[in-house]
Amino acid sequence: MKEHVETLPFQAGVAVRDMTPREPIWMGGFSFRDRPFEAVRTPLFARALALTEASGDAGVVIVAMDHVGLSRELTREIEETCATRFGWDRQRLILFCSHTHSGPSSWPSVWMEGGAEEIAKVEAHNRWMVGQIVEAVGEALANRQPARLGFSQGLAGFGVNRRRARPGCRHFPGPVDQDIPVLRVVSAQGETKAIVFGYACHATSLADYDISGDWPGFACAAIGERHPGATAFFIPGCGADINPLPRLLPGREEALSRAYGGIMADAVELALTTDDSGQERELSGPLTVHHGVTELFYDQLPGEAEIAALQQHPDADMRRSGRDLLTRLHSPEGLPVSLEYPAWVIRIGELLWIALSGEVTVDYALTLKERHGWDTTWVSAYASPTEAYFPSHRVWREGGYEGGDCLLRSSHPSRFREDGETRILALMEGLISK
Ligand SMILES: [Zn+2]
Repeated sequence: MKEHVETLPFQAGVAVRDMTPREPIWMGGFSFRDRPFEAVRTPLFARALALTEASGDAGVVIVAMDHVGLSRELTREIEETCATRFGWDRQRLILFCSHTHSGPSSWPSVWMEGGAEEIAKVEAHNRWMVGQIVEAVGEALANRQPARLGFSQGLAGFGVNRRRARPGCRHFPGPVDQDIPVLRVVSAQGETKAIVFGYACHATSLADYDISGDWPGFACAAIGERHPGATAFFIPGCGADINPLPRLLPGREEALSRAYGGIMADAVELALTTDDSGQERELSGPLTVHHGVTELFYDQLPGEAEIAALQQHPDADMRRSGRDLLTRLHSPEGLPVSLEYPAWVIRIGELLWIALSGEVTVDYALTLKERHGWDTTWVSAYASPTEAYFPSHRVWREGGYEGGDCLLRSSHPSRFREDGETRILALMEGLISK
């Protein structure tokens, strides 16, 4: 009998590397922590997925990392190393962080309090981590095999708009994006090789001194157990103002975190079997990626007297910011007037997959899905670098932590100007129309 050889539309390669710190170092996410981590609750991973068209290199490499967020310098280093070593165009490499608040820090402002010895430990970890991530990218590219892709969407309800959960804020509108986009990678033999899922919610259900991937880590482990041979990838959505709630109930922290991971794994399973829009869609090519940047301007640069006042602030983060800003003020470049903001648009057949960098509030996802279609638009965030919160215009006007206060706590000279959302959406529409 003549063998039937089907031509599949894509090539896909998967690789996983450990990125658990090998000695106690300072953690990222919560500024109240005052010492390095104490134990490893669950290991951390860098998971790489290379997705290209059946013939040639047109496509994208995504990396999903159990990490709070990569600095601009680390992002550039990984991109440049992958470009040199594998010839992979850095504009088609997207480094997503799960934003776990139970992983190591890469932001100097948090761990510099530990002194030179602690700084050296974090830097040594970063060197090793970059190597692990680059290796994962190289292996995923080398591993590519013929594949088909399916897309479906589910829903889960534990992501809650956290701005409402603050005193005096119950009247805030509290939008959420509870969709769970799911991309399944299937081999020519019909085996599921990767399950990539998104959700717009902070990984902040644990806040102790143990290393873990928080609820996304538990979700990936549960999905992996259900699908032996498959790697689960968590890609965060626009959850800058979303928390898993309830959370941090004393004595119940880990149970809640595991529960959210379990709920997510169940919701992904349901999406794979009975997608809420009918069934998993098989995606065809072409597979295109467009990358672009816009410039976001700071609102009002502080003068030397304002910076000096920051250095007397009762909050340690503000004092650190004051020190950083004073150094920058007196540097030859002076204070920056703007921040470069990168983003990507991936198209896989009818799927429009938008990747925003940094911490983006939920309104962006709702606006882009409203404009481009709820069933086939996937809006991701926390692509690297992850250096700031990017509020929608509504959140900017409301103010508060995500509206701009957080920027001052992390060495930015001020909040962004009012036109931030307009500029980011203009960038995205330009990339989408290509
Ligand atoms: Zn955050």
